[in-house]
Amino acid sequence: MNFTLDEPYLEIQRQAQDFARAIEPIAVQADEMSEIHPEVLAALQESGLSDLMVPVEFGGRTERLDPLAICVVREVLMATSAHADSMFALQGIGSYAITVAGSAQQRERWLPRIARAEVLPALALTEPNAGSDLKSVTTKLEASTDGLLLNGTKSYISNAGAAAFYVVFAREESGYSMVLVPADTAGVAVTPTPELIAPHVLGDVHFDNVRLPVDARLGDSGQGLGLVLATLGVFRVSVAGAAVGLAQAALEEAVRHTRTREQFGRPLARLGPVAQMLADCWTEVEMTRLLTYRAACLAVDDPAASLNHSSMAKLAASEAASRVVDRCVQMMGRYGLVRNSKIERLYRQARPMRIYEGASEVLRLGIARQLTKEIQ
Ligand SMILES: Cc1cc2nc3c(=O)[nH]c(=O)nc-3n(C[C@H](O)[C@H](O)[C@H](O)COP(=O)(O)OP(=O)(O)OC[C@H]3O[C@@H](n4cnc5c(N)ncnc54)[C@H](O)[C@@H]3O)c2cc1C
Repeated sequence: MNFTLDEPYLEIQRQAQDFARAIEPIAVQADEMSEIHPEVLAALQESGLSDLMVPVEFGGRTERLDPLAICVVREVLMATSAHADSMFALQGIGSYAITVAGSAQQRERWLPRIARAEVLPALALTEPNAGSDLKSVTTKLEASTDGLLLNGTKSYISNAGAAAFYVVFAREESGYSMVLVPADTAGVAVTPTPELIAPHVLGDVHFDNVRLPVDARLGDSGQGLGLVLATLGVFRVSVAGAAVGLAQAALEEAVRHTRTREQFGRPLARLGPVAQMLADCWTEVEMTRLLTYRAACLAVDDPAASLNHSSMAKLAASEAASRVVDRCVQMMGRYGLVRNSKIERLYRQARPMRIYEGASEVLRLGIARQLTKEIQ
């Protein structure tokens, strides 16, 4: 058993650190944006890291996507900019169904450009009335005489408006299917979503009698849910990586502050309750990093079989990040409340992580179901 990252992962970590350093001066501005920040995109292209999201056969870096490598990058990026973290993560989240089930033509058309971050993808699952309960989607895909017809609305879709294509989850007679819709297809329209507490590139995407060729489907008709699960198998654990990075960054802010600020004749860090908060934060960061790296290692070998471990890591790390950053704000007193200071940004950015890619309560249900199956 080895508790340190191997050299190839350390090299990837160094690349992510270079990317993070390059965008640090514009991080506050980027994290306030609901549109793509062009300099962050240029830095992602320059970093070459998007090639981690595509198999080597189509211009990517590794034979198969490596969830541990993706985790390591997200841990670094989230500590600097949620905008950069999201942009990187979505290159994989939005294109993975093409990697798994795309036709040769779909893969050749899109994946090399994803690897170079020349285009941005989007994965459109959620609808106004279907969030956690994905099976209640009403977006409809129908076979017509000359192809496919798509109708419906997807909401809170990351990269909407900036994406070159949408991978859309829709209901069909045979079950649920995935279909690839280039953003410039007639009948596709994007409207803005309300701005979130932590701004994010988001929009609602409307499909109004969108006509598509039969080969726009990803995989077979009825394979949609399997493709969602495959995507979660690789990427859910990466949210845990981002949460660990966020918590570590918050803790570092609190340590720097409490070591130097004195009250009652001593640095805050030497006052009992503050010291306890620091210790609890560090302990939670270490615990969740270990759980996350282990789940990511399991996902390297078999993403589908290890989904429950990814869920545990995502649950533990996102909940811990919220606790850690909340304590850090507390330790920093009024200085922790300054709008757009690093700690205040992290505080806001921690919150959505407990909701997207599986709300904590929904994850707990799945984890408990698996536990009661395993223990007889
Ligand atoms: C920043 C951000 C980016 C997003 N990007 C995308 C994207 O790119 N593509 C996309 O398709 N979607 C995206 N979403 C939407 C996201 O996937 C949904 O918000 C998520 O699935 C939860 O759905 P909901 O918000 O409708 O909450 P609901 O499903 O309405 O749930 C609300 C709450 O009810 C509780 N709850 C729900 N079901 C259960 C249950 N079975 N048991 C117990 N408790 C339950 C939980 O506490 C949950 O938080 C994004 C959301 C955000 C915030």
